[in-house]
Amino acid sequence: MIRAGELTLNGRLPDAPGALAAHVGAVYGAHDMAESLPGGGILVTVATGAISFLPAEAGMEVRIIAVSEADLFVLREAVSSLVEAFDAGLSVIWDRPLVGGAYPPNFRIAQVVAKSRPGAGFLRIRLTAAHLGPFAVNGLHLRLLLPPEGRGVVWPSVSDQGRTVWPAGEDALHNPVYTIRSIDPVAGWMDLDIYLHGRGRTCHWAEEVAPGAIVGIVGPGGGDMLRAGHMVLAGDETALPAIARILEAAPQDAKGEAMILVSGLEHQQEIAIPPGICLRWLHRGKGETLEAALRDIAMPAADAAGGRHLWIATERTEATRLRAEYRERGSWGRGEVTVAAYWTDTDV
Ligand SMILES: Cc1cc2nc3c(=O)[nH]c(=O)nc-3n(C[C@H](O)[C@H](O)[C@H](O)COP(=O)(O)OP(=O)(O)OC[C@H]3O[C@@H](n4cnc5c(N)ncnc54)[C@H](O)[C@@H]3O)c2cc1C
Repeated sequence: MIRAGELTLNGRLPDAPGALAAHVGAVYGAHDMAESLPGGGILVTVATGAISFLPAEAGMEVRIIAVSEADLFVLREAVSSLVEAFDAGLSVIWDRPLVGGAYPPNFRIAQVVAKSRPGAGFLRIRLTAAHLGPFAVNGLHLRLLLPPEGRGVVWPSVSDQGRTVWPAGEDALHNPVYTIRSIDPVAGWMDLDIYLHGRGRTCHWAEEVAPGAIVGIVGPGGGDMLRAGHMVLAGDETALPAIARILEAAPQDAKGEAMILVSGLEHQQEIAIPPGICLRWLHRGKGETLEAALRDIAMPAADAAGGRHLWIATERTEATRLRAEYRERGSWGRGEVTVAAYWTDTDV
């Protein structure tokens, strides 16, 4: 059923074999996102909308439901990629083709309007852009698009097939992921907190950029607001903005623990947290680690009111190790653990 405010996009796959539905079920089923529909169809539910694949007289019909054109576009791209990966000879005929050459619906040209320091080691960059509403829902993060220095900017565009065409070669954009620390879509601004780790292009950009500069953003994406009655959050500086945003949005009766690893005392920040959540700062300078601190947490009851969730974001190698460890231990249920790699240490 379509509800008020929802947008739909219909597509046809006249030559699709029935095995496509099974393939979709297997791909999304591995993430607990797929369910079977009567008649051999598959319904995929993701944070940003729903996709149904229904066997038709000739081939298959696809329907996407989402709340914004940006989400509809991202799901359309996901369906097209999935179908082409299954059989390169298949393509979806959409009832609303996109105009080739336009900017993708999830892309904005933003302007830097202010810079401040939310705490030692960070720069807060305030951006303004048109129509930021979709960036305030269904996803906490975006990609910052930094053009190559000393060249005219080439922004992404949409192909006739409705796919994003990314500038390549010398025009390629640097596109790191950042958390939207706070956003006011009505006033038309958002803040990004950039950790100055000292080695990256984005750190350099944040230090040098002046109000008035133009930058691209694409999103939102990469995980929605965590909602659980009992939450355990752990991460390093790159996860600080996400943890702070989750804690500030948590209901006052939320319970749990949060731990943030920073270099030292001067890198701690003021974060408004619900009274039932204990925030612990870990100091790298004293040899403290996320892994050791996570071993000390009080395990929440499996039937905690509002559910329980363990959320970890850190460097890739550590994230991989922790993901395997929690899967092996089995103390948290499937769907109760999120372990994300927020950066990759290229020196290991
Ligand atoms: C969902 C998500 C949300 C994120 N949110 C934020 C955020 O809000 N704020 C934020 O600051 N970061 C955030 N990050 C992390 C950020 O995207 C990475 O740190 C990214 O590598 C930064 O790009 P860069 O241009 O600075 O460096 P890159 O060009 O990616 O890398 C250059 C060099 O810097 C090193 N490097 C990258 N990150 C670090 C680090 N943290 N410490 C030490 N060395 C590093 C790399 O190993 C490499 O050698 C987020 C990542 C994800 C996936």
